[in-house]
Amino acid sequence: MMDLDGKTVVVVGLAQTGIAVAKFCVKRGARVTITDGKPADQLADQIKQLHGVPVRFALGGHDLTTYLAAELIVMSPGVPSLRETRAAAAGGIPVMAEIELAYRFLDPGATVLAVTGTNGKSTTTALTGKLCEASGRPTFCGGNLGNMPMIDAVDHPANVPGGLIVVEVAAFMLENCTTFRGKTGVLTNITEDHLDRFGTMERYAEMKGRIWDFQRLDDLAIANAADPWAMKEAEGIRSQLYTFDSRPGAKVEQGAVMSDDRRHLVLRMPRIGEELYPVDDLVIVGNHNMENAMCAYLATRGIGLPVDAIRAGARAYRPLPHRMELVGDRDNVYYYDDSKGTNVASVAASVRGFPRPLVLIAGGVDKGGSYEPMLEALDGVCKGIILIGKAAPLIREAATAHKASYPVIDATDMHDAVKRATELSTAGDAVVLSPACASYDMFQNFGHRGHVFREAVSAVGAKRLD
Ligand code: ADP
Repeated sequence: MMDLDGKTVVVVGLAQTGIAVAKFCVKRGARVTITDGKPADQLADQIKQLHGVPVRFALGGHDLTTYLAAELIVMSPGVPSLRETRAAAAGGIPVMAEIELAYRFLDPGATVLAVTGTNGKSTTTALTGKLCEASGRPTFCGGNLGNMPMIDAVDHPANVPGGLIVVEVAAFMLENCTTFRGKTGVLTNITEDHLDRFGTMERYAEMKGRIWDFQRLDDLAIANAADPWAMKEAEGIRSQLYTFDSRPGAKVEQGAVMSDDRRHLVLRMPRIGEELYPVDDLVIVGNHNMENAMCAYLATRGIGLPVDAIRAGARAYRPLPHRMELVGDRDNVYYYDDSKGTNVASVAASVRGFPRPLVLIAGGVDKGGSYEPMLEALDGVCKGIILIGKAAPLIREAATAHKASYPVIDATDMHDAVKRATELSTAGDAVVLSPACASYDMFQNFGHRGHVFREAVSAVGAKRLD
């Protein structure tokens, strides 16, 4: 375990995780400076949360001397690698992700179940957490998911021998890890996302692959057999590879597939043999969610949780908000909030084979990939696309190149978008907010975007169902 007493620690990023890390380090006797590129007047709420905590603030920019004076630098998720942190690292100052710091304070008898991937992380993490809870063992479920950064696991009742610590991990977080490992490391999939930050798919995939880099021989690596990027990362890993494959007729020796009638998830594991889990235990639907469930079942069964606990947890699981959530109905036009559809592959997963005609509301901050997979999934179900945000011209261009036969219409804001989508719809249709983009040009985050959508749905006279 690390000793922070008397150490000079610089925490980069004054948001929820940075605040939790600062408090954690102060509690352990460290002298903490918390830094952020934003000026103090934009961070008033965050500063308030540190009221009475003896930390120094270095806001409104990144001052190299602050970094070089540190004995340890802790990065919040989402903060890019900075010139200053690279200089500090080159000078021998340890720079670590918040999950790496948390990991070093965990009880060696606690089991970490880590989940990463482009899409399905939160669903898989939350479901895995439910299955763990149902086993009766003390469970922490958080990380990138919701409002419990992994650092909170250290002082959580689950940080004991036998405890289960389920964490959602983003690629950004893995960038600054050197020992962090899960007993099970799930990689749901790797598709284009965050290329604005990582530059190339190779680099992005390499960061995701780090979920397995520090695993031990008897740890479990869980990977999507149908995903060439993930399988490439799985080559040569030290831990035990379990694959899942939701395609009809798929063959997997060690891992999970769907039964031929697609009513069961079939797990195949050494020493356990073959086990069938009914799809009906789950309320989440769609092929992508079957893949998420396979990941969660393999991760938990793989560490020996009983079948009964897994089935009970699956039955207790309820979907997270902003993932194809039915939120409104106006004369049989149904409104779905899929604000968490923040990249092209997630929108494609949500709309492919959708059971009714739909009008899509999309746009926001472009991530640097191709829109073609989304447009291809929309073929045959889409009645129109309403565009918002900065990426609107790019999506329009892609739709033109795709020779889309439906109207593509610009909207000024979310209210205008919902109004225009409603005008295009008739009874039996759906209006789906699934933007394929980040939200920060118009909203605080995907949750805020979803809430504004719901307000707009009410404003057109729909009955709210959420
Ligand atoms: P993440 O935390 O990785 O963003 P979520 O579980 O919150 O993932 O799901 C976000 C969106 O991604 C969902 O609304 C759904 O459209 C899509 N999605 C979920 N799971 C998968 C998957 N396994 N493969 C592809 N898309 C998925």
